[in-house]
Amino acid sequence: MSASGAQSSLRTKRGNRTSLEMRKGALVVGISVAILAYSAGCSGKDELFRQSEILMGTVVEVTVADQSGKRARKAIRAALDEIRRIDELMSAQKPGSAVSRLNREGHERAIPLGNELFGLIRQAAMISEASGGAFDVTVGPLSGLWGFDQGGKLPATSDIAASLPLVGYKKLIFDNSTSSVGFSVQGMRVDLGAIAKGYAADRAVEKLREDGIRDAIVAVAGDLRIMGARPGKEFWKIGVQHPRENGRMLMTFELRDTAIDTSGDYERFFTVDGVRYHHLLDPATGMPARGCRSVTVLAPTATEADACATAAFVLGPEKGISFLRARPGVRGVIVDANGRLHWTDRELERMARP
Ligand code: ADP
Ligand code: MG
Repeated sequence: MSASGAQSSLRTKRGNRTSLEMRKGALVVGISVAILAYSAGCSGKDELFRQSEILMGTVVEVTVADQSGKRARKAIRAALDEIRRIDELMSAQKPGSAVSRLNREGHERAIPLGNELFGLIRQAAMISEASGGAFDVTVGPLSGLWGFDQGGKLPATSDIAASLPLVGYKKLIFDNSTSSVGFSVQGMRVDLGAIAKGYAADRAVEKLREDGIRDAIVAVAGDLRIMGARPGKEFWKIGVQHPRENGRMLMTFELRDTAIDTSGDYERFFTVDGVRYHHLLDPATGMPARGCRSVTVLAPTATEADACATAAFVLGPEKGISFLRARPGVRGVIVDANGRLHWTDRELERMARP
């Protein structure tokens, strides 16, 4: 499927033109740059294979460089199947998912979730702790109120006030012996929206590896996990979307064996009286976080990049940079509300190309 084909089917499915075009824009820029660079440098028999699909409410794109088309296509299929499996398990929108069951019944009893989901919610709670609650996997009541999955609407102040006591990772009850999670307050809801796409990219890369693939990019919306490099080169070239100029790149990076993710206020938003309301919510106030336009994070895994980008966005430029610096192997760049860039380190700044 071509990138433009994926974009129009996404628009039809979601019916939310502006935000989804922009989300897709970020993805297309990154991937198309990678592919152009690859084609230019390709000398051997390796070829590029790519497939896009709508999964997890967004565009998922798997790109593989391999000599065998048969092996590449089989691996891509398995990777996409894996992402579908994770969506069925972790979506708060699908009534049959384990997360939906937890959200319905978690106050009545602890719900056994299995090691995988239990582990991810635990990891999310640890990032909540490390970010002082800026990232919070129990943000569900607030994200439900803002309804960005259906285009978004401005909630009543009283509804936000009523939801705030239902948010707080410290109100989760973990039972390690049964891999169960419960809620200590009625009305709590878990929302893995800021970590599950990264996790899915990581799992998809594991599937590709199992099938013998060494060079690939898995992109779940803006969450990219990068494996190996393009043949004949040491890297894949990845573009980062400009937060205010649709379709323009802010910068590019030459990367191998890493994950990169961008969270931005241009991805899902609506405007009322000239004010932009977006989907990255401050759990302390219930309102969209105001300090940043976008946060790009590089990390060893896409799970960590995803959660850390959201956390740093909510923390704002200064605290966000400190938070990223404190995590081993994590680095990033923040575009603040005035368009100024903040870097975790000089080396990353030098790596960035226009
Ligand atoms: P995107 O989904 O656009 O890639 P993120 O990874 O930053 O962006 O995740 C945003 C989603 O995470 C929101 O749609 C919502 O479901 C959830 N979310 C919003 N604010 C927070 C927060 N402070 N902590 C954790 N999750 C959040
Ligand atoms: Mg995120």
